Parts: sequence; structure tokens; C-alpha cells
Amino acid sequence: MARRLEGKVAIVTASTQGIGFAIAERFGHEGASVIISSRKQKNVDEAVEKLKNKGIEVMGIVCHVSNAQQRKELIDKTVQKYGHIDIVVSNAAANPTIDNILDTQEQTLDKLWEINVKASILLLQAAAPHLKKGSSVILISSIGGYHPQASMAMYGVTKTALLGLTKALASEMSPDTRVNCIAPGFVPTNFADFLVRNETIRKSIEEKTLLRRLGTPGDMAATAAFLASDDASYITGETIIVAGGMPSRL
Ligand code: NAP
Repeated sequence: MARRLEGKVAIVTASTQGIGFAIAERFGHEGASVIISSRKQKNVDEAVEKLKNKGIEVMGIVCHVSNAQQRKELIDKTVQKYGHIDIVVSNAAANPTIDNILDTQEQTLDKLWEINVKASILLLQAAAPHLKKGSSVILISSIGGYHPQASMAMYGVTKTALLGLTKALASEMSPDTRVNCIAPGFVPTNFADFLVRNETIRKSIEEKTLLRRLGTPGDMAATAAFLASDDASYITGETIIVAGGMPSRL
């Protein structure tokens, strides 16, 4: 595997399993020091152990992305140990309801905004003073950001917001920091466990996918590593859809 991220310091949120973990692992294999985090200490400890066993330089920190103190610790401890930050992947999201938007409780709307959008902004506010020239930010949106689906409509709308946030931050953080976004298709993780549990849904999604398969965390990680690397040094403000050719946009 190419070592495109040698010497880089990368924070990945929500990274003790699923897509975030795969991104951290890929970054580590490409030479980065990775800082992984999630809400539960046990998950952080187990993920750190797995990555260390693969020879990856890793630090684990508990961070619920909507907890201000824990976000501060994530940045502070990273800077204390490594001195600067090269890459931030904002990957955490919540999908707490299947209600229609017009039936969604206010506190649920707040939670969706808090975790899926606001926490990314606040994390980047804290990280920005430590981001080096040539640094890279990656937001994780969703194919659902292009077509919010009925069963996860408001979640989809928060993911649409990340497409705009990517453009706005790319402008604000230029020229030293590139800001890009990944919109994954359907990946069978805990977050999308209906894909694992429900054969009919899984098959119907596979049929809508030109490549006739679901995505893997590794598919997303490969794209994240590209965007974080100098191979993407002239790309900013863009969203890459990694969805096997599912209907998205022109
Ligand atoms: P996942 O496999 O369920 O993993 C979620 C990870 O996030 C875990 O490590 C979990 O650990 C952590 N986490 C959950 N809530 C958190 C919070 N508030 N703060 C910090 N960490 C938190 O999920 P995934 O499928 O990889 O999803 C990752 C991202 O991809 C999300 O932004 C999601 O919207 C996006 N996405 C996923 C799919 C898909 O089909 N899977 C499709 C499109 C987009 P703890 O329990 O220890 O916190």
C-alpha cells in the first residue's frame, strides 16, 4: 500500500467501528498517526488495541462529538502529543427517527442538527488554529443528502447541509486547508443494520446500484485516503459520491 500520509497527524471522529474505523486503519497503513475516538471508553480501548496490533501509531480518546469538553480534550491531547494536526475527518452522525419531518419532535430535530452538523463546525473551530498549511478536512455526508428518503428524511436533510458546509468551509479555510466531503452509498454497518437484517431491502438496494453490491467501509476509507493525500492537492470544496453508481446527481 502507498504511504501517502507518512508523518501526518489525523483525527477521525466516531472511529471505533464502521466507516470511521476503516478510515483510521487506512490512514495508519498509509503512514499517518491516527487519533481515534467515540463515546464509549471500552470501544476506544478495543479499537486502539486492534490498530496497534496492525503496527499503526494510534491514540484513543473518548469524545462524544456534541460534548464541548470532550471535543476540547480531543484537540488538546492531539496537539500536546503531536504538536499539530494535518487531517480531520468529521464522521459522527445520528439517525434517531423514522418519522416524517412534519411529525418529528423538536428535541429530535435539535439532536440531528447538533450531532450531524453543528458538532462538525465546533470541532473545526477548535482544530483550525492547529491545522498546518496543506492540511485537509473531510466531512462524511451520505447519498441520502441528495435524495432524502422518507424513512430518514431529516437525517438526509442534515447530510444535504454538509454539502453546503463543504463549499462554505472550503472557501473560508483556503488556501491552507482543503475541505472535501464523501457521500457514501449503503454500507452494512451497525448504523445501517437494516441492510444486514433485511434481505429484501438489501437486495433492492443492490439492484439500484450499477455495481450490484453494497459499499464497504474500505471503499469509503480508500476515498478518504485519496482526499487527505497530496494526490488530491488541487481538489477542494468537492463531494465524492462513493455509492457504486446509485442515482445521485449529474
Ligand atoms: P457505525 O458503524 O454504526 O459506527 C459508528 C461509530 O460512531 C462508532 O464507533 C460509535 O462508537 C461512534 N459514535 C456514534 N455516535 C457518536 C457520537 N455522538 N460521538 C462520537 N462517536 C459516536 O456507523 P457508520 O455506518 O460507519 O457511519 C459513519 C458515518 O457514515 C456517519 O456519518 C453516517 O451518517 C455515514 N453514512 C453511513 C452509511 C451507511 O450505510 N453505513 C451511509 C451513508 C453515510 P460509540 O458507540 O462508542 O460512540
